[in-house]
Amino acid sequence: MNMGTNGAGNTLSVAIIGAGPAGYYTAEALTKGDNNVYVDIIDKLPTPFGLIRAGVAPDHQSIKMVSKRYTATNGRDNVRFVGNMALGRDITMAELKDLYDVVVLATGAPKDRPLGIEGEDLRGVHGSGAFVGWYNSHPDFTDLNPDLRVASVAVIGNGNVAVDVARILAKTAEEMADTDLAPYANEKIQASPIKDIYILGRRGPLEAAFTPKELTELNRLENCVALVDAGQLPDDSIDETLSGAAKKNMAGLRAMTSNKPSDKPVRLHIKFFRRPMALMGDSTVCGLRLEETRVEEGRCVGTGRTEILPAGLVVPCIGYRASPIEDVPFDEGRGIYVSDEGRIDEQLYCVGWARRGPTGTIGTNKPDGIGIAAKILEEVTPAGKRGRAGLDAIAEERGVHIVTFADWKKIDAAEMAAAVNGAPRVKFADVDDMVSAAEVSDHTD
Ligand code: NAP
Repeated sequence: MNMGTNGAGNTLSVAIIGAGPAGYYTAEALTKGDNNVYVDIIDKLPTPFGLIRAGVAPDHQSIKMVSKRYTATNGRDNVRFVGNMALGRDITMAELKDLYDVVVLATGAPKDRPLGIEGEDLRGVHGSGAFVGWYNSHPDFTDLNPDLRVASVAVIGNGNVAVDVARILAKTAEEMADTDLAPYANEKIQASPIKDIYILGRRGPLEAAFTPKELTELNRLENCVALVDAGQLPDDSIDETLSGAAKKNMAGLRAMTSNKPSDKPVRLHIKFFRRPMALMGDSTVCGLRLEETRVEEGRCVGTGRTEILPAGLVVPCIGYRASPIEDVPFDEGRGIYVSDEGRIDEQLYCVGWARRGPTGTIGTNKPDGIGIAAKILEEVTPAGKRGRAGLDAIAEERGVHIVTFADWKKIDAAEMAAAVNGAPRVKFADVDDMVSAAEVSDHTD
């Protein structure tokens, strides 16, 4: 098959919604080689890179280096970043379908999955999407203003997000100096009297979703000691039957069992077999009712025994959901768009977390992007749509201030110029500030 022309000789026009990893890997695969395709990557924020910028932990800068690859993709003549333009606010799905041959939803899963228990709406309960967005300067969450004047924090879940949240709350100012943690968050975290942080898993150590590298980081914190009750770990005869991440996780957890609460000023308790039954408090959360569990054939089963854990801040880190979009079929149970391996209809596709849910690493989006690009090139025939010119005309007519990739580079430069003490950047947290920085003229204009 000639992947370039799809048999019609026209250029295939593609609008990708969402400038995160899934969007960029899809754009990269679509525009590879001699494919006769152009791509507009449209994002509601003036900044590209999605979760790389606002989800990856601020102290994991090396993971963020992958954005260099996306920058290279954006360097291709047939790839354009269209920032500060939102589907649903500035343009409709019907209009996009009218303008482009294909629309790809690479919108991720920006909503927190609810716990579905009593007390979830209490003040002091913040899902990880909001909480991580807050400390990562995501404009949607800068107003979250969590009250960190608490002694005890419960982080619910046994995934890497739970580990990230606990670590960021536990690190000292020195440990966070070379990060891009939001300065307002840094101030609050450092002023906080937090003494006990709990990571709560509803199943056991063998079922934990966190990975060894992330887990063992918790045992190297300056001011905070990681505590694991040896009684919660299986007999060590099991270790030789384990392999991969489970084996390394077990070794990491066993190493923590000899730590003592008095070793450091802050304690991080990693507790398994506890599922939250209710969050307690009048208007503000003050604790959780937990049920002790056991694992039967991989499933979490309650024992009926409960306990109260005091906590003034609760951060459920239990996964995410995509945002429903008008006229796009949505699987309410799974929180993703309904698709046939990424194909929603003849013009609409989805990729990444929007397609498969919030699983895998950044790199998992690469094969996902390659797969969806191949499917699109195979299935869609270009119809000579207006594409870019039509989008620009709508933006102009509606007064939408599109931020281009060249504009983003100015925002990027301003953020880096503001950095002090080894920090890589100080992020703008406000869309207007980003747009203003993009408007500053420089010699590249
Ligand atoms: P995750 O890995 O799926 O972990 C979610 C955790 O929440 C699981 O332990 C799950 O327990 C628990 N959970 C779900 N519903 C619950 C409920 N109702 N009550 C109590 N616990 C509940 O998700 P994540 O931590 O949000 O991470 C999302 C993805 O991003 C993952 O693929 C992760 O590896 C990746 N990530 C990677 C990094 C990194 O590489 N450094 C950092 C952050 C995130 P069950 O297992 O019992 O369902």
